Amino acid sequence: MSKFRFNAIQTAQKRKPLEIEDFGKRSDFFGKNVFNDRAMMQYLSKEAYLGVRSAIDGGKKIDRKIANQIAASMKEWAISKNVTHYTHWFQPLTGATAEKHDAFFETIGQGMAIERFEGSQLVQQEPDASSFPSGGIRNTFEARGYTAWDPTSPAFIFGTTLCIPTIFVAYTGEALDYKTPLLRALNAVDTAATSVCKYFDKNVKKVQSSLGWEQEFFLIDKALAMSRPDIILSGRTLLGHSPAKGQQLDDHYFGSIPSRAINFMRELENECMLVGIPVKTRHNEVAPNQFEIAPIYEECNLAVDHNSLLMDIMGRVASKHNFKVLFHEKPFSGVNGSGKHNNWSLTTDSGVNLLGPGKTPMSNLQFLTFFINTIKAVLNYEELLRASIASASNEYRLGANEAPPAIMSIFIGEQLTKVLLDLESVTDGKLSPEEKTDLKLNVVGKIPDVLLDNTDRNRTSPFAFTGNKFEFRAVGSSANCANPMTVLNTIVAKQLNEFKIEVDALIESKGLKKDEAIFNILREYIKSSKNVLFEGNGYGIDWEKEAKKRKLSNNKTTPEALKVKTSKKTIDLFSELNVLSKVEVEARYDIELEEYTKHIQIESRVLGDVAGNHVVPTAVRYQNMLIENVKGLKDIFGKDFEEHAREQMRLIKKISSHIESIHSKVDAMISERKKANKLKDKEKKATAYCNKVKPYLEEIRYHCDKLEIMVDDELWPLTKYRELLFTR
Ligand code: ADP
Ligand code: MG
Repeated sequence: MSKFRFNAIQTAQKRKPLEIEDFGKRSDFFGKNVFNDRAMMQYLSKEAYLGVRSAIDGGKKIDRKIANQIAASMKEWAISKNVTHYTHWFQPLTGATAEKHDAFFETIGQGMAIERFEGSQLVQQEPDASSFPSGGIRNTFEARGYTAWDPTSPAFIFGTTLCIPTIFVAYTGEALDYKTPLLRALNAVDTAATSVCKYFDKNVKKVQSSLGWEQEFFLIDKALAMSRPDIILSGRTLLGHSPAKGQQLDDHYFGSIPSRAINFMRELENECMLVGIPVKTRHNEVAPNQFEIAPIYEECNLAVDHNSLLMDIMGRVASKHNFKVLFHEKPFSGVNGSGKHNNWSLTTDSGVNLLGPGKTPMSNLQFLTFFINTIKAVLNYEELLRASIASASNEYRLGANEAPPAIMSIFIGEQLTKVLLDLESVTDGKLSPEEKTDLKLNVVGKIPDVLLDNTDRNRTSPFAFTGNKFEFRAVGSSANCANPMTVLNTIVAKQLNEFKIEVDALIESKGLKKDEAIFNILREYIKSSKNVLFEGNGYGIDWEKEAKKRKLSNNKTTPEALKVKTSKKTIDLFSELNVLSKVEVEARYDIELEEYTKHIQIESRVLGDVAGNHVVPTAVRYQNMLIENVKGLKDIFGKDFEEHAREQMRLIKKISSHIESIHSKVDAMISERKKANKLKDKEKKATAYCNKVKPYLEEIRYHCDKLEIMVDDELWPLTKYRELLFTR
């Protein structure tokens, strides 16, 4: 067997589950390395504590004097835990997290040194920003971006470093990260939802957006992953024949978690506990070696940070356990891909979940208000929502037959469908006392606090209502949740603002009572939002046809999907709500197109190399063995040899023909790449990569995979699917 592959398999098979330290009860060490409320109360003066709280709760600025106090206490706390460095931790648009470590250590002359950390260092830092994508906002040679403390996400310790969550902005003020627009969107939805809440409860002062993500991933033995250049360089397998056994038996899903994986997860969970990520659920997923981990939901900004942090920690812990984590949405063809469901809801400061049915007719009307406005928001901006989850890697999953389609639709279940139907017939204008009573008793009063459809979910819907939250399922497993969450919160904010204006107008102009006006507006929304509601099978071709009739977008490729990001409607939306300026929107669009292009470019180069350096030479070697064999048969049988060598000769020809196809297709792909590279316009370039270069990946793969099943297994150099997926 090819040496590299053979050694990798041997190494992987010999591995034992790694022993892990027992930390005791989780509740005892949860948040131990977080500068949370408890730590703040212990370390901060009352004045400083109140300063931080008012920044967290009310978005108030922290003045320099207090910042100095906080920094000093944070340092004291961190040093008590053996911390030596601090870093501003942020999420640039590269998709990873970034940090630049600085020591607290400072010299003070005469050979002496102290540990120092001042307010200014806490509040602001200038990383060498020249290598982060800026979409042309800031000339990279200037490298003038800075990071600024986000007090709403608490500082934490990782290893011996104090990590301070920050935003990342250019000196000219434009956002260069994921967090800044998210914070602005959360602010917009807070303002909009709070003012709508006042129809129902005057005392509501704040509405918080919550997110509970479910992270899917694959765990592959490190040695095996290292033996595949495609996995290492592009995060997915670019070739590999499907194994005889895949996921058809569902035995992985229902089996117990394999012991190496469970030890990895236990250590991961311990690490998560320490930094305050409240992970709660872990289980096997559908595909072999695929798993999921999910936390208890949290405030959206914190949840987004925690997801990014989790992905980072996962990589490190996995490496220790000799695994490689694959976050790619479609690392293996023929088995399920990975997603990251984003469970989203809105909660008031009085603790009411606005997307959960209540106990009284009035609270149910409030629920319906937020429920229906969300539906309307999704309808109005379905194309933008689709764009928010578009990426080169998610493209391989969306629309594939086990993943949500590229069409955004909402599943709400039978019971709520019926409620909406009832509301549709509410009288136009004033309601009679009888109708009001009837609505109270038989419609809004009848929504049970536990919705039956919870258990009967439609797993094919990209956006589903699941009892007390919406679940956005089309988000890719490798994505930063900030992008879809920014869009979702912004469009809901916009819709709620509009709703408020319309309800107030009805009250003013027609003298309607508040609830009458609300019923009237909701009725119109229900009528106009029907096109986005879909309860059927989202994976079928019938739905594509139906969706087209309903005028829902179906942008399958990333370049197509991204286009809407710079439409007038999008720019207006984001500027109206102060989430992103036109310059920021356009910069982001540029970055995403460029990222797309680079992704496909890398895949194309890697596949070209692997096909040329691994596949073809191996096929030639095998072909030579066959040729030797045929020659031998000829020696023995003379002119009758053909009768005995027929199959071998057929294989020799087939191998030649696959090799020939690989060569010509790789050449053609390279020439398309060259053409695409010459294009100056980023949109045209991404489109060329999508439509001209990308199709070759499948075509070349086809021939490579054919050769894989023809060539002697002993010779094949690349670790096979069955070895990658079934070694545990
Ligand atoms: P699944 O979808 O796998 O059945 P659940 O629906 O139980 O799993 O929960 C998935 C995620 O949804 C978890 O992270 C959970 O904390 C989160 N979640 C539950 N309720 C809410 C809510 N009201 N708002 C946001 N997220 C929530
Ligand atoms: Mg779910």
